[in-house]
Amino acid sequence: MAKLVRGFRDIFGPEAAALTALESSARKVFKLYGVSELRIPTVEQKELFVKATGTTTDIVQKEMYSFEDAGHRLLALRPEGTPGVARAYIENNFAQGSPVQQFFYIGNMFRAERPQAGRYREFEQIGAEFLGNPAPAADAQAILLLKDIMKDFGVKHYSVKINSLGCEKCRPLYRQALIEYLSSSKDDLCDLCKDRLERNPLRVLDCKIDGPKFKESAPKMALCPECEEHFSQVKKLLDGKIEYIVDPCLVRGLDYYTRTVFEFQAGESSQNAIAAGGRYDTLIKSMGGADIPAVGWAMGAERTCAALGSLPDCGEKKVYVVSLEKDCNEYAFNIMQTLRDAGIITEGGLFDKNIKGQMKQADRTKASLAVIVGGTEKERGTAELKDLTSGEQKEYLISELAAAIKNIK
Ligand SMILES: [Zn+2]
Ligand SMILES: [Zn+2]
Repeated sequence: MAKLVRGFRDIFGPEAAALTALESSARKVFKLYGVSELRIPTVEQKELFVKATGTTTDIVQKEMYSFEDAGHRLLALRPEGTPGVARAYIENNFAQGSPVQQFFYIGNMFRAERPQAGRYREFEQIGAEFLGNPAPAADAQAILLLKDIMKDFGVKHYSVKINSLGCEKCRPLYRQALIEYLSSSKDDLCDLCKDRLERNPLRVLDCKIDGPKFKESAPKMALCPECEEHFSQVKKLLDGKIEYIVDPCLVRGLDYYTRTVFEFQAGESSQNAIAAGGRYDTLIKSMGGADIPAVGWAMGAERTCAALGSLPDCGEKKVYVVSLEKDCNEYAFNIMQTLRDAGIITEGGLFDKNIKGQMKQADRTKASLAVIVGGTEKERGTAELKDLTSGEQKEYLISELAAAIKNIK
């Protein structure tokens, strides 16, 4: 018998229900912000992620599911959504109508991480991208959109960190200062960071091993006047609308971020990030598109569900339909459809079992009401409605059954 592949899993029960609820919350809030859906493919050319996500990232260096197809194309299962959205934006000439576009995506991503508790190689991300708007209002909207999804879904305990990574003008100076600072402790760095030091020193601060050692004492970003102004505008727009902490040590694991970066954390450490994002003003251009600024984020759907704990009981009542005799099966079956037509959640149809077996199943499905029919009821055009909590039972005409069920609290 074939088994699950290591690092993958089945999702069912309350967890599947929580993911669905999160997706509906997200869709509701996306609509409110005028963000429309973009369904990007799961498979892209490997080159897209190498170029966009960046060669110095863990994703590209260690975690990408890449393969060659029968036509000798080098492909990859998407490890994140932003490169696909950027590619689609360029390829479909979205900028032609108006460069300003707002997209969201909901889909599974793949990363060949070392399997560990709570980490899987296939996971769901919900993401939003605001393209074409360089103004701080885009950054602030992206962050507030994320907050509103958390609120609608019901996640209460999280913190928000923001920072600015500067631009092509001011970041190189910081980069140089960081290289100088870290070079003096080069021997203390992990092998990967020794290698990263010259190419992308910011990533050292993001390293799970070295980050905590150097974050506090490392030199801090000194923004140029334009970046300073941009960042202060973002903060001003957020003030009073969301609680946030400015964390000068917040860097993100991706190469393409410029200016604003942010992270929503469910716990104390960055390992508990439930959503993260930032501005990426140079990505579209670096991919061969026009000079289009952008800001976006991605949320880990499973992690966000975990941060919620358990879903509140929606309190919807469910009816289970039981047939007492073979002659009544069709009659019972038709009642099931009639109730569903009336918008009542209905299960049943286990007519090969006796009443005990059917009532047991009613209990398993957590139905609060049972509709029971036998020869007498069929003859009279009625059904017995039984409250499974109180045990009370009453006979109703089929034409009055749905209304009677809806009247029960
Ligand atoms: Zn700058
Ligand atoms: Zn390291």
